[in-house]
Amino acid sequence: MIVPLQSDERFLAEVTATVARRQGVSLWWLGQSGFLVHYDGVCIAIDPYLSDSLTHKYAATAKPHVRMTARVVDPALLAMVGLVTSSHNHTDHLDAETIGPMRQTNPALEVLCSAANVDFAQQRLGMMPTGLVLGTPYTHGPFVIHAVPAAHNQREQDDAGHERYIGIVVEVGGVTIYHSGDTLRYDGMVELLRRWVIDVAMSPINGNDPSRGVAGNLDGAEAAQLAHDIGARLVVPCHYDMFAFNTASPTVFVDTARQLGQAYRVLQAGECLNM
Ligand SMILES: [Zn+2]
Repeated sequence: MIVPLQSDERFLAEVTATVARRQGVSLWWLGQSGFLVHYDGVCIAIDPYLSDSLTHKYAATAKPHVRMTARVVDPALLAMVGLVTSSHNHTDHLDAETIGPMRQTNPALEVLCSAANVDFAQQRLGMMPTGLVLGTPYTHGPFVIHAVPAAHNQREQDDAGHERYIGIVVEVGGVTIYHSGDTLRYDGMVELLRRWVIDVAMSPINGNDPSRGVAGNLDGAEAAQLAHDIGARLVVPCHYDMFAFNTASPTVFVDTARQLGQAYRVLQAGECLNM
């Protein structure tokens, strides 16, 4: 089992001290596609997966989800988080066993997902999430959150035309963050994202290999190339080292980023990136 750089009490101590200090934007990798972001005393969590719900769900099946990295933190202790975002309905991006304990700790916790997924998320979570629509940013304290489409493996819309898979662009404290969600590259993606000057992009690197049951994500080379093409100042890889059947080494990502002259940062689980 991979041990996070810091977890539990040590992780919480750093978050608490950072919230008290209120300097700049800070971002921690929670494992898989999960990130905690802080600015000016306000915290949001993007796609947090802090339980063993998939390990339990798929135990004794042909696709066991064996956890590779120990949990960074008990979600019940994340009282400082005011908003959770969800890029799509897969459990590693919308986990009742993560969001439920967070809501018990902070009953005011908001959940933001694509408008296409509000009904599903409401049933899974037992609370009413807010639906995010392309072109209509949502504001939470100092955070302004825009939805952008994702293709997992294709772009898909509901009957009202809302995207089933999204990424988000987060503007906060003079920093612009792009979290791609689970996605492949699609026509128009680069042009769309070039509307923003992106300081840090977080993208999956586990690839697209249906023969292993791994569907619909950029691989390391594609993640580095996308970051380069959208002009991201820094790229952080994610969506690996969580499940043994669905992971990738960041080596190819690192090699490609170096070839492209693309700045990158490989975080350990629980590690903080200050901006
Ligand atoms: Zn995923």
